[in-house]
Amino acid sequence: MTISFNLNDLEELTLKTKQIQENVLEEILTLNANTEYLRQFLHGSTDKELFKKNVPVVSYDDVKPYIERVANGEPSDVISGKPITRFFLSSGTSGGKPKIFPVNNKFYEDMSFIFAQSSSIISTHIKSVQQGKSMTFNFVRAQSSTLSGLPVSTGTTSFLSSECFKNRPSNVFTSPDEVTLCQDNKQAMYCHLLCGLVQRDEVVSVAAPFASTLVNAITFLENYWKEMCSNIRSGHVSDWITDLSCRDAVTNILGGGHSELADLVEEECNQKSWKGIIARLWPKAKFVQSIITGQNAQYIPMLEFYSNKLPLTSPLYASSETLFGVNVNPLCKPHDVSYTFLPNFSYFEFLLADEGNKGEIVDLVDVKIGSYYEPLITNYFGLHRYRMGDILQVTGFYNSAPQFRFVSRKNTVLSISLEATTEEDILKALNHATLILEHSDMLLMGFTSYADISTHPGHYVFYWELKAKNNNDTVKLDNKVLVECCCVIEESLNAIYRQLRSKDGYIGALEIRVVQQGTFNSLMEIFISRGASASQYKTPMCVNTSEALEVLESNVLARFFSDRSPPF
Ligand code: AMP
Repeated sequence: MTISFNLNDLEELTLKTKQIQENVLEEILTLNANTEYLRQFLHGSTDKELFKKNVPVVSYDDVKPYIERVANGEPSDVISGKPITRFFLSSGTSGGKPKIFPVNNKFYEDMSFIFAQSSSIISTHIKSVQQGKSMTFNFVRAQSSTLSGLPVSTGTTSFLSSECFKNRPSNVFTSPDEVTLCQDNKQAMYCHLLCGLVQRDEVVSVAAPFASTLVNAITFLENYWKEMCSNIRSGHVSDWITDLSCRDAVTNILGGGHSELADLVEEECNQKSWKGIIARLWPKAKFVQSIITGQNAQYIPMLEFYSNKLPLTSPLYASSETLFGVNVNPLCKPHDVSYTFLPNFSYFEFLLADEGNKGEIVDLVDVKIGSYYEPLITNYFGLHRYRMGDILQVTGFYNSAPQFRFVSRKNTVLSISLEATTEEDILKALNHATLILEHSDMLLMGFTSYADISTHPGHYVFYWELKAKNNNDTVKLDNKVLVECCCVIEESLNAIYRQLRSKDGYIGALEIRVVQQGTFNSLMEIFISRGASASQYKTPMCVNTSEALEVLESNVLARFFSDRSPPF
C-alpha cells in the first residue's frame, strides 16, 4: 500500500489524520518488521499494539551503532526494509560530532510535497505570487561519503542536488541552478544577489530556508553593492566569480550593461539608512519568507527593519529525521506562528513534557491544547520511537490535525546560525580554557555567555569576571593568555560551530569581555529580585534578557577576540 496525495490535499490530510497515521504505521511495520533492529522487539510481528508495548523510546546514542553499521557497509536491513541510499547530516550533535540520519529517495518526494503544499498555501493568501519570481538564497555544501561510499550531506544540499529539484515542475527562482549549486558560498551569494537585482521587477518574494541567511544576504549586499552596480553597468561579472558554469549563467542573465538599473540600485543603496532596503530594491516583493521560529526568532526585528514590515512568512517545520508540517496561516504575526502537522510523512507520537507531569505518550490526534510535548519519530528509514529533542506546544487544531508552536530545541543555549551549542558544549570548552588560565595569575570568578547578533556575522561573547590569584593584587589582564582562551574555547566547540566559523564565515571570532569584579553579584541580585531562589541560585550559562545584558555591558573592562579560525 503506497500512500500518495495530490497537491490540494491539505484538507484531506488534515481531515483523515487518524486514519492516515494508522496506515503509515502499518506500512512502516510491514516494511521494517524483519530488520535486525525491530526483530529484537517484535520478532517479525507487525502488530501496532505490540509496537507500542515493546519498542523502546530511544535517543540518538541508542540507535547510533545501528546507523553506523549501515554507514560502514552492512546491509540496510539492519534498520530499514528499503535500501538506504544516503545520509543526512543534521545540525544536532552527539558527543560533539554531527549526527547522521539514513534516508532514501522517498525523503525527496516528501520534500517536494511539503514545498508544493506551502507554496499553494501562500498563493491562496497572497494574490498573484505565481506570476513572479522568488529571489531565494539556497546554498549547497560539499558532500562527503561514508566508509561504504554512500553520500553524506545536509538535507538541503541533498535535495538541491537531486533529480527531484532539477526536474521540478516549475521554476520560480531568479537564480539559475548553476548559482544555487555553486559550492563556493561566497560566489553563490554574490551571484544570487546580482541575479536578483537584475530581475528586480519580477521579484515577488525574497526567501531563504532560515532567517539568519537572509540577514547575511543583506550584510553581504552592504559590502558588495558598489561592485554589483559596476557589474550591472558594464554587463561584466567580476573576475573573482571563477566558477565557470555559475559565471556563464549569470552573464547570460545580465545580458549586457544596464546603466539605468545601476543608477537606480546605487541611489537606493547610497541612502544613509537601510531601513526598508528590501522593499526599496525589490518594489514588487509581496512577502519575505524564511523560518523565523526557534533560534531564528532573534532575527525578526532585523528583517522587519530591512523589509519595511512586508509580511514575514515562516513556511514549514522540518528536520533531517522527518518533515513535520506547514504553516497554514502564513500571514499571522511572526510570534504567533504554528505548524500544522501533516500525517503522511512519519508516524508521530508525543512524549508529554509539561513540568511535573512528564512521561505520558500520546498519538498525534490525542495531544491536548496548551500542553508541551517532545515528538517521537517512527520514520520509513529506520528510526523507531526516536526522541527528536525539540519541545513543542499545542496551540490548536486544523480539522483534526494538531498545530504546534516551536518552543525550543532541548538543551540548546547558544546559536547564531545553524549550530546548536548546548550547556555541555559550553562547559567542556570552558574547562579547556581554564587549563590555560591555570598558568597565569588570573582566576575565573564568574562567567556567562551570549550570542551577539548585533555584529555581522554574529559571534559568541563570554563574559568573564577575573580576579588576581594573589588576594591583594589587582588583576593584570594578559592579552596573550586571554586571546589564547578565546581560541581554545572555539577549538573545543562542536564541529558545526567550527565549520560555520572557519569555512563558511557565518560566525565571527569569539570574544571574551572581562567585567569588573562584583558584576556577577549584581547579576545574581537581578535574578533574585525577579523570583529566582537565593539559596539555589546558579549563574545562567547564557543570558538574553536586556536587563541582565545591561548590567554586564555597563561593567565591561576589556575585550579579547580569538585570532585564528578553529580547525574542523
Ligand atoms: P536539521 O536536522 O539540521 O535540519 O535541523 C532540524 C532542527 O532545526 C529541528 O529539530 C529544529 O530544532 C530546527 N527547526 C527546523 N524547522 C524549524 C522551524 N520551523 N522552527 C524552529 N526550528 C526549526
